[in-house]
Amino acid sequence: MLFVTACLVTLVVGDFASTFFYHVPQHLWFTLHLRTHHDRRRSYFDHAVISTDPAVLLDGFLGALPYIVVAAFVWHLSWPGAVTGLLLGQLHVWWRHTTQLGWQTPAPLRRLLRPLAIVLPEDHDGHHRNPDIEFGDIFRFYDAPARALLARLAWTSRRARNAGRRTMRRAPAQA
Ligand SMILES: [Zn+2]
Ligand SMILES: [Zn+2]
Repeated sequence: MLFVTACLVTLVVGDFASTFFYHVPQHLWFTLHLRTHHDRRRSYFDHAVISTDPAVLLDGFLGALPYIVVAAFVWHLSWPGAVTGLLLGQLHVWWRHTTQLGWQTPAPLRRLLRPLAIVLPEDHDGHHRNPDIEFGDIFRFYDAPARALLARLAWTSRRARNAGRRTMRRAPAQA
């Protein structure tokens, strides 16, 4: 029981922390994740699984750090559970990037995982096609609150600042 608790807490709370303390802030205010994970010039399987580019690895490490912190907190409950949670999280990283390799989730597996709100490779492919949707690394129930937070903070984002700068630059020419 403690094993299962430690494992689930690592995944569920780890995904929460990674989504709201790393992924969403990166999309709003920073460039590392967008330059690496959302670099459209390279295959995303490459930059999620194979690449050894330091910037790519740093993005992967910072995204994984919240899971590691949570695992450390539940370590005393069951360290094998915490380790299993981290391993499953890593396996899910590899699996959710396989759409590009032609993987399609078989219908029975899809039916099994849908009620558990687990992100399928096809779902995460949506995040690579449109970086404004499909948040949550492992669980889809983080998508709606993540997008609500993004919308609420959109005015503070790099995108808004850059757009503002562009209109400022355009303004004198129009005057
Ligand atoms: Zn990805
Ligand atoms: Zn992203």
